[in-house]
Amino acid sequence: MTKEEVARLVELVAARLADANSTWLPTPTRPEPPGDPTPGNLPAWSGAAQGLSDIAPSRRGGAHPKHRPEYPAIVAAARQAAAARGPAPMPSGSASGAQRAATQRTPREVSIGVSNRHVHVSARDFEALFGKGKTLSVQRVISQPGQFAAGETVMASGPKGKLEGVRIAGPARGATQLELSPSDARHLGVDAPVVVSGKLEKSAGGVTLEGPAGKVTLSSGVIVAQRHLHVAPGDGRSLGVADGDRVALETGPSGRRVTLHDVIVRMGPGHATELHLDLDEANAAGVKTGDKAIIIARSGAPAMGKRRPLLTERDVAGLAARGEKVSAHGPYLLTPAARDRARALGIWTD
Ligand SMILES: [Zn+2]
Repeated sequence: MTKEEVARLVELVAARLADANSTWLPTPTRPEPPGDPTPGNLPAWSGAAQGLSDIAPSRRGGAHPKHRPEYPAIVAAARQAAAARGPAPMPSGSASGAQRAATQRTPREVSIGVSNRHVHVSARDFEALFGKGKTLSVQRVISQPGQFAAGETVMASGPKGKLEGVRIAGPARGATQLELSPSDARHLGVDAPVVVSGKLEKSAGGVTLEGPAGKVTLSSGVIVAQRHLHVAPGDGRSLGVADGDRVALETGPSGRRVTLHDVIVRMGPGHATELHLDLDEANAAGVKTGDKAIIIARSGAPAMGKRRPLLTERDVAGLAARGEKVSAHGPYLLTPAARDRARALGIWTD
C-alpha cells in the first residue's frame, strides 16, 4: 500500500467510527423487562443505574462529551496510529489540546467583506437623480445592520472617465458620499483621499452623478474609504480591540500572505464584526468576501489618548538611532525585551 492509500483508508475508517448511524459496531439492544421486578430493587433497564456522564455533555474540564468524539479528532488519532505514533483511535478518545485548538476558530479571526464602488446619497440628491416621490428599493441586505444595497444605480463621470452602474447603498444619509477604489478614482480622474467613511472634510469633488431623472454634480464627498474593521459591541473584548483603535491584520492565501496595517476599528451598536476592504486592496491581498483575517497587532489611538503604544525591541533600536532616550515613565509600554535592549543601548532612564 502506498502512503496515500493508507491515508485514504484511515479516513474511511474514521468516517465509519464517527458515523452515528454506522452499523459497523453492533447496535446495543435493550434487555427485555422482566415480568415482575422485586419491589424496591430498580430493574436494570430503568436507566437509573446508568451514569449521566456518557449522555449529558459535561462542560467540566472543557472535555468533549465522551460518546461523540469529533470527526477531526478521530482522523488525527487514526493518522497517528497508522504512523505508529500514538494509541489506536478508540471511540472514547478525545483530541489533545493542540488538536482541539486546531479545529476551533481562532478567537482573533474576523470575516472579510469586500466593498465594490458604491454611493450613499442624501434624500435631496436621491430626489434629483430619481424624481420626486421615488424611494430606494432594497435589493440585498448587507452584513451591517439596517444597511442594504439598493436596486438603483447611477452613472458617475469625472474629468477623465465614466463608471456606469454605480450601486446606491441605503438608507439615505445626510450627505452624499461616493466611495471608490484608487483604480476607480484614477479612471474618473479625481484625486480622492483615503479617509474614514463619513469624514468628508478633505473629500474630493468634481464628479457628476446621473440618474434617470437628472444629474447632481458633487462639490465634495468623493473618497477612498479607509480600510476599517467593524466590531459588534459584544466582540470587542474577545478581539482585544476598542473603538478608534488602529490594528493590523494578516490575511491572504498561503504563499502570498499579507499584513494590512492602519485598519481603523469602528465599534458600537449598529456594527456587525467584519473587516471592510475595497476591491483594489482585496485583489492585492488575494482575498474575497467571506475569507478570514487575523488581528495580529493593536496600537492605541493617539488622538483619543487613552491607550499607550507598545514599544518593541525594534522601536527601541530606532529611537536609539535617533539619539532619543527611553524612560520607565514615558507615554508608552515596553516589552521586557525592549527594556533590556534600551538598557544595553544605554538609552534607558529609570
Ligand atoms: Zn464598512
